[in-house]
Amino acid sequence: MIPTPAEALARILAEVAPLPPQRRPLPEVLGLALGEDLHSRATVPPFTNSAMDGYAVRAGDLAAVSPEQPLRLRVLGDLAAGDTPRQPVGPGEALRIMTGAPLPEGADTVVPVEQTTRGDGAGEAWVELHQPQRAGLHVRHTGEDLREGQLLLRAGHGLRPGDLGALAAAGIPELAVHRRLRVAVLTTGDELVDVSEEPGPGRIRDANIHALCAQVRACGATPLPFERIPDDRERLLQTLRQALEADVVLTTGGISVGDYDHMKGLLEELGAQRIFWKVAQKPGGPLGFWKLGETPIFGIPGNPVAAMLMVEEFVRPALRRLMGFTKLHRPMVEASLEGGWAGKLGDHRTTYLRVVAERAGAAYRAQLTGPQGSAILSSMILANALAVIPAGVDRVEPGGQVTLHLTDENEDH
Ligand code: AMP
Ligand code: MG
Repeated sequence: MIPTPAEALARILAEVAPLPPQRRPLPEVLGLALGEDLHSRATVPPFTNSAMDGYAVRAGDLAAVSPEQPLRLRVLGDLAAGDTPRQPVGPGEALRIMTGAPLPEGADTVVPVEQTTRGDGAGEAWVELHQPQRAGLHVRHTGEDLREGQLLLRAGHGLRPGDLGALAAAGIPELAVHRRLRVAVLTTGDELVDVSEEPGPGRIRDANIHALCAQVRACGATPLPFERIPDDRERLLQTLRQALEADVVLTTGGISVGDYDHMKGLLEELGAQRIFWKVAQKPGGPLGFWKLGETPIFGIPGNPVAAMLMVEEFVRPALRRLMGFTKLHRPMVEASLEGGWAGKLGDHRTTYLRVVAERAGAAYRAQLTGPQGSAILSSMILANALAVIPAGVDRVEPGGQVTLHLTDENEDH
């Protein structure tokens, strides 16, 4: 039996487990999955301090202040961020204070400098306040952000810039993370030339090496692009041997019936175990998944759209699991398919349609990108989602509901 996409994905995920985490310094962890639960090693802020440039005062002094009845306070001096206060603020007194400087004893409130008038008289500095002020305003209290020992992030979380800032504040200079996978990317075909070459008769440019390496990188892994392999058994064997030094091998093309036997034979000669072959879906039916020792090997079709789809739906979740991420899948939403869709009658495969999706209030609506052939690369420029049409459904009425996988990293969902 040819597995459904869900069965194929389950079989792949059952064969891959996160690689052991390693300790890494904070500047190297962006985008990686956390390999441990992290607790704060510090209380943040570590001391009560001013949230504004202004004057540290005692709220009790300000009770009766109004524009008609301003209050004049004696200024004790200046306190910059990084300084420590040398004297308390008593009744009738204020301390000029900068954002981030520790609040002196006695003071409980900061009046922003914009709301004050400064002056000198008889050799003494003073400040005049014109408005009442809520007690405690513009003060940041010890521990109001983080408490020592507090859980910050769980294992499996993908680290973002904001996390790194918070971890630094929490006193965590290094942490356990799952490393980036190295993924060998192989393209095969006598007809392929480099993007910078003018293709001769019967030849085309190698689109997959760029699309697949980019997809691998977008998952947070490191692609290792190999030199293109002609449809030649010896060259394929030679390159496969080298590729198997990577963590994962991804090969595209050369899997039409005759060629497939070729590839399968070679992999088995090398000792690879076949987990499954083919998925009941289109585009992209011929997906092969093998393991050689612990190394997963994906053989995907050469048609560029099919190849990208297979990476999106099967390789990406596997790479993410190997890299320790808890979240493996894209966001899924329901959408109405404007214009509908008509497929092949009686098709027992899951169909993936490239669509342009947009949010319409709380709901989504989607439209086909245009022709859906598996070599129509222009559809990949337009698409920001895949509509998944279950096996047995050969028609969606205009406005009918479909499930979308939102595939665009750069969009806000
Ligand atoms: P194959 O899977 O090798 O039978 O290839 C199926 C189709 O995809 C053929 O039309 C190939 O020319 C095309 N193709 C295969 N590999 C690539 C590639 N790397 N870039 C662009 N097209 C490709
Ligand atoms: Mg080929």
